[in-house]
Amino acid sequence: MERNPLFFMLRKHFFMMIFLFFLIPATPTLALEDHHNVLPKLLEGERILKERSFVKNETPTVYLTFDDGPSKLTPQVLDILKTENVKATFFVLGQLAESKKDLVKRINDEGHSIGNHTYSHKYNKLYTSFSTYWQEIQKTEDILEEIIGYSPSIVRTPGGTYKNWDPFYFFYMDQADYLIYDWNIDSGDSKRVGVPSNEIIQNVKKAKLNNKLILLMHDGNGHEYTVKALPEIIHYFKGKGYQFSILTEKVEPIVHPNIATRWERENEFEKRSMFVRTAREIEFVKNTEKITRIQQKNFDDLLSAENTRLLVSAETTWEKVKPKSIKYQISMLIDKITQVVFSFPMLFNYNE
Ligand SMILES: [Zn+2]
Repeated sequence: MERNPLFFMLRKHFFMMIFLFFLIPATPTLALEDHHNVLPKLLEGERILKERSFVKNETPTVYLTFDDGPSKLTPQVLDILKTENVKATFFVLGQLAESKKDLVKRINDEGHSIGNHTYSHKYNKLYTSFSTYWQEIQKTEDILEEIIGYSPSIVRTPGGTYKNWDPFYFFYMDQADYLIYDWNIDSGDSKRVGVPSNEIIQNVKKAKLNNKLILLMHDGNGHEYTVKALPEIIHYFKGKGYQFSILTEKVEPIVHPNIATRWERENEFEKRSMFVRTAREIEFVKNTEKITRIQQKNFDDLLSAENTRLLVSAETTWEKVKPKSIKYQISMLIDKITQVVFSFPMLFNYNE
């Protein structure tokens, strides 16, 4: 039998609502709302965006993006973009930028945007340890800073966030003020080796059009067919009346929220359950106690610590900054009671 999703939501949160009903009049409601809003967002992999103002595009806009370069194909891509008089975004790998500095410089000089795509692109290193991930982002930043004079805060993660990132990554990268861009059109040029140009063009043409499109393509080695397909892709969007723009901090990110990651973490601290608790509690501190500076220092400590020390570091810093207020104690109590209530399966798990 089909039931309204609202029914399930109400049933799931029934006891929580009863508690809140009695507790809210006695406590500052803002603090409780903040507390309970953060966790579900993190669990859904949603970013907790800082206050930023993003551009509103009057005309339909397409953001062409090229990942995995720079490579020997990048000059051809740049030539085509110049001929067509359009701008694009290149998510470069630190390792390649290091050995092809001239190309990175040319991308920048010709008015395109440059983003961080990590140093090594190695999934099994990047997604089994946030510390490693963080170090690769920093290393790539340093390399780019040396070549173009600034370090971009726009990031595309190898393979996209979907099934690679869990709330831990979203939360920390957001706290560190990075902007994360997935895509909403996949040219399919990296589905397998040697996807022919026609197929790439068809993938683009059959995609749903909307006002803001971020198109995933690759200019890394082996993507000759993408280069070949590029002029027709550009003509297609020109024909549809799109303007071409570059990703900057002014463009609101598009991410595909998902709580599942296929990667197992190497260290205890980064195991999700531990993180979610710490993240939620630190976020709670930020929202209610206004000690952002201390909280920021915690992140610095956490991120610079050795993996083996992370757990200890988190626990001790948390002990130091843990709010003593009655609001906090009550909200923790609600959590505990809710956990106990929901551990009685017979109350809720009958057959539909
Ligand atoms: Zn990539």
